[in-house]
Amino acid sequence: MADIRLEGVGHSYDGGRTWALKPMTWTWQSSRAYALLGPSGCGKTTLLNIISGLITPTVGRIWFGEREVTGVPTAGRNIAQVFQFPVLYEEMSVYDNLAFPLRNRKFPKKEVDQRVRQVSQLLGLDQVLRRRSRRLDPGRQQIVSLGRGLVRPQVAAVLLDEPLTVVDPALKWTLRSKLKEIHRDTGHTLIYVTHDQTEALTFADEVVVLNDGAIVQAGEPAELFLSPSHEFVGHFIGSPGMNMVPAEIAGGVVRVGAAGVGAAPDGLPPGPVRIGVRPEFVRIAGPGASPGAGATVTGIDRMGAYDLVHTRVGEHPVIVKTEAGSACEPDAAVFLHFPADRTFLFRDEVRCGSL
Ligand code: ATP
Repeated sequence: MADIRLEGVGHSYDGGRTWALKPMTWTWQSSRAYALLGPSGCGKTTLLNIISGLITPTVGRIWFGEREVTGVPTAGRNIAQVFQFPVLYEEMSVYDNLAFPLRNRKFPKKEVDQRVRQVSQLLGLDQVLRRRSRRLDPGRQQIVSLGRGLVRPQVAAVLLDEPLTVVDPALKWTLRSKLKEIHRDTGHTLIYVTHDQTEALTFADEVVVLNDGAIVQAGEPAELFLSPSHEFVGHFIGSPGMNMVPAEIAGGVVRVGAAGVGAAPDGLPPGPVRIGVRPEFVRIAGPGASPGAGATVTGIDRMGAYDLVHTRVGEHPVIVKTEAGSACEPDAAVFLHFPADRTFLFRDEVRCGSL
């Protein structure tokens, strides 16, 4: 197994007028579990298909270790793929479906049996190995597809494109942790495409966030949550996403309207910025807590496990996530504390400092 390296890889479906994937240079490290996360249409599937060889990129080169594979078709890349919907031989038994990728590559019978039993046990398929695949419900069929993707040792990568879409939500949690277990066992390089942040954050060693055809940030789940380097990551990760308050730097002070919120970081030129702070870190505090701002409560969502207190700083909404049973009432005047180490400034969507 080797790193997968993209050098200036980009793709346009319309002869270069628009780029579904903007030219990028990026390395997928061997044996790591990646989630490729982004909204619909941001280019996730295009990127995955370029790695698998289903699409030849318009520009750039791809390397699997020292071997260049840019023009090599899928069959020559030693890749395993799992798609959104089951891809199975319906008349074959579950066992034969799982064994197929191994038999096809002439693995010894004993090893085939060993691998099939191991994977089927981990995925909870051991009771249905003799059943014909078409007799399973679609969710279970998709688990067999997942097993087929994971059964081969020594693949260059396992590419999974929203593989749990048709699986029952309750079962998704179990499968994600099984997938992690299988990954620990096999050391495959996994690239898992999803638009669902929960899926990405629970599963991956590293989350690669894609927006509008470009990687905006990559990192461990905690890093993306605690330290977003781009407004998009602040919005897209978190529930609800990061509060973004338009502000101005003038005279060494960060201001929302006329009110000073805190000192401007050294060296940041005057001009517009946005203050980004997650609902989890804003505190309702006594007046004068610095940095911070006066606000008015506009409503409260009592979610059971926690409350979401909706406030307004000037005309800008700021949500505060507090313990359940908050004493706040609508229309109350409160003071919000923005902890300096968790409050960032963004300019042109890119982080440019802390408050
Ligand atoms: P989704 O989650 O909805 O599948 P995605 O993030 O996987 O989206 P892609 O399917 O890679 O995104 O699409 C990226 C962009 O390229 C989109 O604007 C899409 O409309 C466009 N696109 C994808 N496939 C084609 C194609 N075969 N021909 C023309 N445009 C395409």
